[in-house]
Amino acid sequence: MINRLCIIGVGLIGGSLARDLRREGLVGEVVGASRTTSNLKRALELGVIDRYDTNIAAAVKEADMVVVAVPLGAMTDIFRALRGKLDDGAVVTDVGSAKGSVLEAATDAFGEVPGFLVPAHPIAGTEHSGVDASMEGMFKDRMVILTPAPETRADAAQKVKSMWQGTGAKIIEMSASHHDEVLAATSHLPHMLAYTLVDVLGRMEERVEIFRFAAGGFRDFTRIASSDPQMWHDICFANRDALVHALEHFSDDLNQAIDAIRRGDSEAIKALFTRAKALRDEYTKNG
Ligand code: NAP
Repeated sequence: MINRLCIIGVGLIGGSLARDLRREGLVGEVVGASRTTSNLKRALELGVIDRYDTNIAAAVKEADMVVVAVPLGAMTDIFRALRGKLDDGAVVTDVGSAKGSVLEAATDAFGEVPGFLVPAHPIAGTEHSGVDASMEGMFKDRMVILTPAPETRADAAQKVKSMWQGTGAKIIEMSASHHDEVLAATSHLPHMLAYTLVDVLGRMEERVEIFRFAAGGFRDFTRIASSDPQMWHDICFANRDALVHALEHFSDDLNQAIDAIRRGDSEAIKALFTRAKALRDEYTKNG
């Protein structure tokens, strides 16, 4: 049970987490914090938080759990604002989509990775942003990856694990560097492809025609290009090395496919499509 939860950044993810913890009766009071009073007022109206404060130090007073749910580029400033302001025994976690950069931000702000910090990443979300898009049940049966550092206290990690289990999420642990490699390939690369595809088509002269005749597949494939540009900008640079590696790998394979088409290598193209279909069918069968 969390007595006082402070959510810094009451948007899609922070808001959805608060909603679930409240519904399950796993939290006493929820305090919201961010830069903009209008966003926080909206969160209050929606019943996602009990009260708010735009002053981070005041917002975390007597909180036993602090969840930082802001874009990755804002992490260092938030950690700096927390320095010396947390109650003894308070646990801090985040929900950022890259994890190595969170450890760097913590080291910048605190001088070392503090034992009370438990970096985490819920593998759930939508292309919408803000507290109005937050919803109950977003994390049910979804994975939450914890990437505790060697410095992370075991009791802090356990508290964060229990919090996420309360939302119905499944918890797995891995190192921050492994997380960043895996997510570069499975999430950050697809977002780059979707954004680039829409941008390339949008800049072609026949733009109107292209979007007019685009079928359902185009809509499905490009849905994630409606995600928040600032958030994805931050993820791109926070996970720069692993993302560039994944993009280069993809680019090499795409060039091989282009060569195969150019030289009329039907076997190579059929083999590519067959392999990919089998993998995709297997993946969707397993949910
Ligand atoms: P969001 O809906 O845009 O919410 C972000 C919140 O952060 C807003 O309430 C914003 O409020 C606040 N904020 C932004 N900059 C701030 C700053 N400098 N100081 C204090 N508050 C600040 O974003 P989200 O989709 O929930 O994403 C939040 C985090 O979750 C990101 O790190 C993202 O990588 C991660 N994540 C996202 C998804 C997804 O599908 N969206 C999935 C997993 C993880 P104000 O404007 O009022 O400051």
